[in-house]
Amino acid sequence: MRIELCGRRCGVNRFEGEIGFCGLGIDAYVGGMFIHISEEPPINPSLLIELCGCGMRCKFCQKAELRDGVVNPKILLDRNLWKIIDTTGARSLSFIGGNPDESLLAILRFLDTAPMDFPLPIVWNCHGYGNRIVYRILEGIVDAYIPDVKYGNDNCAKKWSQIYGYAEIAKRCIDEITRQGVPIYVRILVLPGHNECCHIPTIHWLKEYHDRIIINIMDQYSPDFIITKTDRQMANHPKPEDIQTIIKETRQCGLIQMALI
Ligand code: SF4
Repeated sequence: MRIELCGRRCGVNRFEGEIGFCGLGIDAYVGGMFIHISEEPPINPSLLIELCGCGMRCKFCQKAELRDGVVNPKILLDRNLWKIIDTTGARSLSFIGGNPDESLLAILRFLDTAPMDFPLPIVWNCHGYGNRIVYRILEGIVDAYIPDVKYGNDNCAKKWSQIYGYAEIAKRCIDEITRQGVPIYVRILVLPGHNECCHIPTIHWLKEYHDRIIINIMDQYSPDFIITKTDRQMANHPKPEDIQTIIKETRQCGLIQMALI
């Protein structure tokens, strides 16, 4: 059986002990679990379950320890986790990463063992370089999605995240989840120097979903992982005027922005 849970579709057989590009076999591991108070207002505060493993390799990743599964201790995602989950103060339960898509099977098994009176809606916070079949499976299980749209073209995606065919794959994912009638908050992390090649084209193709998505323009990019001066514009913070341009473009395209809610 070929595993194709993310856009990379590496096709290994994780049921037979092979390890995917994401670093995962058949089990899923929790790298962190805590209540986060800076999520999108409708789901905030959210109890985050951070899953290890990711099919992307963003050079600027701020969660590389999760992505590469080097967190300690790693906790198995299974029914025992319910015994230590404390929902006090949380308005939602978010699966995040790394990326959750790559741990789909384990997450479904985990949710299948949830207490009957579990009170929180489920949020799927993903990188958007997914397989639309995954989101079809999640229909009726997930109450809100928070996908990233990182790039507006394949070249930047290949250069900075080592992924292929990004633009088409991201569109297919947004197309699938916007069909499901649940809240969708699309995160656009403003990357320095990527307005023309990525963010403005992204805003324009998202226009067709204007009545089904809310845009969260994020200005917190920080070049503090393995980005160096040789990475040129990516070694900077995004310019305030570039962020303003994206905000203005978003408004002109008739898209609703999170900050306006
Ligand atoms: S998608 Fe997220 S977790 Fe994965 S490599 Fe990129 S920034 Fe890191």
